[in-house]
Amino acid sequence: MDRLLIVEDSKSMAAAVSECVRQNLGYPFDVVRTYAQAQQIFRQRGGEYFLALVEPNLMDAPDGQIVDLAASKGAPSIVFSADFGVTERRFLEKRKIVDYVVKRPENLKPLMGLIRRIHNNRGCKALVVDDSSYFRNMLVHILSKQRLSVLEACNGENALELFSKHPDIKLVITDYKMPVMDGYELTLALRRHYAFDELAIIGISSDEQKQTLPMFLKSGANDFLQKGASTEEIVCRVNMNLDLLEFMDETRKLANCDPLTGLFNRRCFFEKAEPVWAQAKRSGRMLCAAMADIDHFKRINDTYGHHVGDLVIKALADLLARSFPEPDIVSRFGGEEYCLLSASIEPVDLYHAFEGLRQSIQDLAVRHEGVEVSFTASIGVCVSCKGGLAEMIRTADRMLYMAKRAGRNTIRISG
Ligand code: GH3
Ligand code: MG
Ligand code: MG
Repeated sequence: MDRLLIVEDSKSMAAAVSECVRQNLGYPFDVVRTYAQAQQIFRQRGGEYFLALVEPNLMDAPDGQIVDLAASKGAPSIVFSADFGVTERRFLEKRKIVDYVVKRPENLKPLMGLIRRIHNNRGCKALVVDDSSYFRNMLVHILSKQRLSVLEACNGENALELFSKHPDIKLVITDYKMPVMDGYELTLALRRHYAFDELAIIGISSDEQKQTLPMFLKSGANDFLQKGASTEEIVCRVNMNLDLLEFMDETRKLANCDPLTGLFNRRCFFEKAEPVWAQAKRSGRMLCAAMADIDHFKRINDTYGHHVGDLVIKALADLLARSFPEPDIVSRFGGEEYCLLSASIEPVDLYHAFEGLRQSIQDLAVRHEGVEVSFTASIGVCVSCKGGLAEMIRTADRMLYMAKRAGRNTIRISG
């Protein structure tokens, strides 16, 4: 379900859209020009499409029949058409379409944003909270069409219960006036646990009182909708809020993670490690810090090229992340040097854990153009909490230096 189908009869427009998808999204896609070709490709690929981008007025099916065909194969459509009149829009709204975009060159970029939104919505949870089953059903219907996984609650308390089972909900649309717990109280309760960059809350109300909107925003909502808002407005606001959450998540990753390996960077390592160190110090639990550095890495770069060097750095990062899963903290300090902090190794297992790691690195090889490139690393470990986190890391680094001096591909433990 990861392919996109483009149904476009104009050759030049099909080429422009294809190029844009290739450059901006990178999803696999197919292009067909007629209804008959669409039927044929659906026969071949069945339910592989998560979305169809369609021109509704095709030579062999001029009445938007393509939308029904795609829907019958489980693919909702985005309609990309030259012109939208009121009648045409109503006609299209009855069908299973996600949204429509007017066909203009300057709309290609927003169209890509919309396709990405639908792609990312799959598996993303939304919650609709309203005591009126009529409004709840309407919103559930709209959000489901956007490929969101939608949960429902009939009041604030009911919503909080759902959150305890689904803490990964990303969007809440909540009514104001409800029995048991109203929308303001729910928003306040949710904000105690979820920050603005973790959960988007949109208030909704038929109340025409001027203070409803500011009250919602001041309780911690990101946005507000009047009941009676058009489907288009609801979809636009939902998309804007989800895009913003994603953007903030990407920004956080850029600030905290090394782009080559996805591991935490040095700054983020210290941010995450300080509280773990303080907790271990309080509880007297053993904590170990380790520095690992690839041996003669420069030779790998010089012999096979920088690209292979990168593959090696990435392969070791993946091995470390697998070997020391959360809550252990694994980071890339720079170059071919990694630092990790673990509170989960038992003192009796310490030597075996790091000797096992050294061996696994020696056995790990990177394949490139038929050549197997193997490598080794030296590891320095410190197991004493004395002095502070920075002191622990300095000791681990000293141990690493000793491992290098001892001939490399070896471990040294202090503590
Ligand atoms: P030692 O066994 O003493 O650690 O020797 P070494 O060659 O591994 O260490 P050295 O510090 O002399 O060289 C590290 C090299 O790593 C130098 C630098 O160009 C390269 N390097 C740093 N960052 C990257 C990177 O992101 N990708 C690649 N391919 N190379 C990198
Ligand atoms: Mg090195
Ligand atoms: Mg080095």
